[in-house]
Amino acid sequence: WSHRPKYDYRLAVHSGGKVPLGIKRKGLRIVVTGGAGFVGSHLVDRLIARGDSVIVVDNFFTGRKENVMHHFGNPRFDLIRHDVVEPLLLEVDQIYHLACPASPVHYKFNPVKTIKTNVVGTLNMLGLAKRVGARFLLTSTSEVYGDPLQHPQKETYWGNVNPIGGYHFFLPLSHLVVIVSGDRNLATLHSLLSGSQRRISGVRSCYDEGKRTAETLTMDYHRGAGVEVRIARIFNTYGPRMCLDDGRVVSNFVAQALRKEPLTVYGDGKQTRSFQYVSDLVEGLIRLMEGEHVGPFNLGNPGEFTMLELAKVVQETIDPDAKIEYRPNTEDDPHKRKPDISRAKELLGWEPKVDLHKGLPLMVSDFRQRIFGDHKEASS
Ligand code: NAD
Ligand code: UDP
Ligand code: UDP
Repeated sequence: WSHRPKYDYRLAVHSGGKVPLGIKRKGLRIVVTGGAGFVGSHLVDRLIARGDSVIVVDNFFTGRKENVMHHFGNPRFDLIRHDVVEPLLLEVDQIYHLACPASPVHYKFNPVKTIKTNVVGTLNMLGLAKRVGARFLLTSTSEVYGDPLQHPQKETYWGNVNPIGGYHFFLPLSHLVVIVSGDRNLATLHSLLSGSQRRISGVRSCYDEGKRTAETLTMDYHRGAGVEVRIARIFNTYGPRMCLDDGRVVSNFVAQALRKEPLTVYGDGKQTRSFQYVSDLVEGLIRLMEGEHVGPFNLGNPGEFTMLELAKVVQETIDPDAKIEYRPNTEDDPHKRKPDISRAKELLGWEPKVDLHKGLPLMVSDFRQRIFGDHKEASS
């Protein structure tokens, strides 16, 4: 592979990412960090399908080889086990930088590591982008808005984040000690969580502030070193290949209903979230990368549901007899979250297509297969 990028971005800009008739599109060389994870693996599927060459860089903290195994043997696919906190030399045209645990249970597991991944990992990937002249896309998060004082959230809102953390632990102390001293032993964490579905609600600032710094770094490489960058702020996303037992509400409810356990609703269940199906997100990420705007762009589904409404959709989809069990909520659980996606609609021509009633069944069949079809997975 030659040193310089071979992609003419003007082509993409003037054609909305599509190559005009009569011009043969060259395959791109693309790195997807975190490509063995939930979102990353769906993105890889799309990039491979359109003819690009993809290198997945992943340390398998929350990602799984199974998510990308179907590409093994394809000469346009490579998988490198690598931690983005360490420098990496590659020659590519585009970098989709997703590497970072996304679920609270995972990113609170080793908060310092989460910060290193977001800060040092992002710095390394920006250094790589600068060296080879690649375009760089950061997957930031709605969490940069913290517990928002603006609803719905627009990209111009600066957020309401507590830099020193702020949530309480529900787990008994003995369990906490295992988690804190357990270093990378995610299996231990999952074995504590599965079944009983306890909620770990420690400090989330490592993630929020880590992503905020990653955005700052991205803009400083853009302004200071001329790196072509893109920033996506992703809102709650669900779909096949999500980690089982990651503590998030959609995966919890779906796994609980399938296992004939009660659905655990925290608090009064009147708090709201907006749930985006993963294929919509992938479409948004690709449009953002190929378009001419830096962002940041909110990528999320504005359809707003209370947790009780979500529980009802899960009951309708899986088991109308599933019981609901109320559990205490954390004190500062955001009451509402909903993206304002006008900017993405106008400048990227993007909006979500898959609503919860259509998307949930697609996730359910994947969870059903992983819980009942693969004994090892169900007990991990
Ligand atoms: P995920 O946990 O399934 O995927 C993250 C991937 O990154 C995993 O494969 C993991 O092994 C890998 N990884 C973590 N740390 C790494 C490191 N130091 N070096 C190399 N690889 C590393 O999560 P996801 O839901 O697919 O999230 C992907 C990205 O999207 C993340 O950056 C996340 O912050 C962002 N995001 C996701 C959501 C969502 O709802 N899923 C919402 C907002 C933002
Ligand atoms: N880097 C990398 N791969 C590259 C180029 C750089 O991992 O191909 C890392 C590099 O090790 C450094 C970071 O990216 O830690 C920032 O690189 P940059 O060149 O911007 O800064 P410098 O090396 O001058 O500190
Ligand atoms: N939640 C719930 N039951 C669960 C898990 C979560 O009622 O089993 C609630 C949680 O209190 C929050 C919402 O669902 O109000 C979304 O939680 P999640 O962890 O999925 O995402 P985030 O809070 O990061 O948006």
